[in-house]
Amino acid sequence: MSDWRVGYGTDLHRLTPGRPLLIGGLAIESPVGSDAHSDGDVLLHALVDALLGALALGDIGDHFPPSDPQWAGADSSCFVAHALKLISKAGYRVGNVDATVHLEAPKLYPHKQTIRELLACLLEIPVEQVSFKAKTGEGLAPIGTGDAIAASVTVLARKG
Ligand code: MG
Repeated sequence: MSDWRVGYGTDLHRLTPGRPLLIGGLAIESPVGSDAHSDGDVLLHALVDALLGALALGDIGDHFPPSDPQWAGADSSCFVAHALKLISKAGYRVGNVDATVHLEAPKLYPHKQTIRELLACLLEIPVEQVSFKAKTGEGLAPIGTGDAIAASVTVLARKG
């Protein structure tokens, strides 16, 4: 297997009133949050898919089926820890991560550095190896109308 492996993950959730809005493990004050079986953290779900994808280990649904009641309301950082363990078992570690969240409101700009640091902590890598970007949807559906939140994450894993 190659010494360098790239992984890519995406996620999308509907936004509904009365649900918590968690992004990278950070609870953000918002009138709407992710409608989901687990805690609905789109960023961490996309990150898990990127981590698993780097080593061709399937996807988040293979490892944590939404039909399984034990994952109801689950803390998505546990999913990340599981994916990291698999990567390490395969003899790889995370090189760097480039992540983007698409959300119309609330604005994530004030939280960017905190989210970056949370990701670095979860991945056990220096913050310089983590990039976090926030984009809006320019009023276009469904992100721009505020009906959904999405995330995309690219991960580079390296041997050793
Ligand atoms: Mg999800």
